[in-house]
Amino acid sequence: MNIHEYQAKALLRSYGIPVSDGRLVQRAEEAKSAAGELDGPLWVVKSQIHAGGRGKGKFLEAEAGEKGGVRLAKSVEEAAEFARQMLGRTLVTIQTGPAGKQVNRIYIEDGSDIERELYLALLIDRQTSRISIVASTEGGMDIEEVAHATPEKIHTFSVDPAAGLQDFHGRRVAFALGLKGAQVKQCVAIVKNLYRLFTDKDMDMLEINPFVVLTDGNLKLLDAKMGFDGNAIYRHPDIAALRDETEEDPKELAASKFDLNYIALDGEIGCMVNGAGLAMATMDIIKLYGAEPANFLDVGGGATKEKVTEAFKIITSDPQVKGILVNIFGGIMRCDIIAEGIVAAVKEVGLQVPLVVRLEGTNVELGKKIINESGLNVIAADDLKDGAEKIVKAVKG
Ligand code: GDP
Ligand code: MG
Repeated sequence: MNIHEYQAKALLRSYGIPVSDGRLVQRAEEAKSAAGELDGPLWVVKSQIHAGGRGKGKFLEAEAGEKGGVRLAKSVEEAAEFARQMLGRTLVTIQTGPAGKQVNRIYIEDGSDIERELYLALLIDRQTSRISIVASTEGGMDIEEVAHATPEKIHTFSVDPAAGLQDFHGRRVAFALGLKGAQVKQCVAIVKNLYRLFTDKDMDMLEINPFVVLTDGNLKLLDAKMGFDGNAIYRHPDIAALRDETEEDPKELAASKFDLNYIALDGEIGCMVNGAGLAMATMDIIKLYGAEPANFLDVGGGATKEKVTEAFKIITSDPQVKGILVNIFGGIMRCDIIAEGIVAAVKEVGLQVPLVVRLEGTNVELGKKIINESGLNVIAADDLKDGAEKIVKAVKG
């Protein structure tokens, strides 16, 4: 789960990590008084979307201009005007995809005078099963380019989970970043607090870009991206409360409400499967026969008719889906429940695309009977291979 920059900064602040003062603005009328509460003489007006690259992003609407989703203002009036231009507009960045994301919230920050822009991140390294700290002197808006062209400028330090984070980690980061004197001490404290925050809240990603040296020599975090392990969110109601559902794929959101394991993909064959392993195998075999899966979906072992109905509705709501493959090997899951769910869903939303159903296992005869007697236009399949071949043929001809 991801959160907005302004929410991430509130968390950082609560852990004693230096960030600028700022105000959240959700309506253009609030912008002027919000900006007026900050000292100036520089204001930073920042679009809040769950995607990076905002500074170099572009709005689809002409009025908001091509100046990007992060703009520096020289007066309260100018800050309010930028906020008005950005609110409700669609920002396209390198991370949003071409459709962009609507900006519903603006964060206005007290502007900082920057001497150097650095990069600092904490992430879970699955290769080493440890938390890694990543640091670079080449922070700012071109870090992806730096990682690509000059990977030697990216320094990685791994933390032994048994010993935990030690001061020397912070010192190594400070030296890698070319920090001097009092900055080293500040950096050690920042890294320590970031690690504490990261582990306390079960984060899987924390990226500070830019981490800056101010002209007065102090360190500050000017941008923050945070991701949390979805499987641990139940332990953190404070983090769960930060969820912004407008930022999420509506299909995945609906699936999570019904406790379905659903992940949207780019292909044309919608899949409804029970069991994660069978779901993976189904996706593989669809690819083998020359098509692409539109989703991963494991309805689970104990799915009810309502859950199956909902799953089917989510699959058919995807306009990219040109055909559906239901592949059920009923052990704990009963084939008749799946069949009832499919029939109920089709009655509700209709069926515009070919549907191939392969049922096997518990109550399979009853399941087949329910589908046969429903009058649905279903192509029956005998096994996984047969099912995959039939749906690809039905879609691709
Ligand atoms: P991103 O483009 O989505 O990563 O947004 P950032 O929050 O990183 O802002 C983009 C750029 O705006 C930064 O790399 C800085 O160069 C600039 N910027 C952000 N905050 C300030 C600030 O307080 N003062 C100044 N002078 N520049 C800032
Ligand atoms: Mg940034």
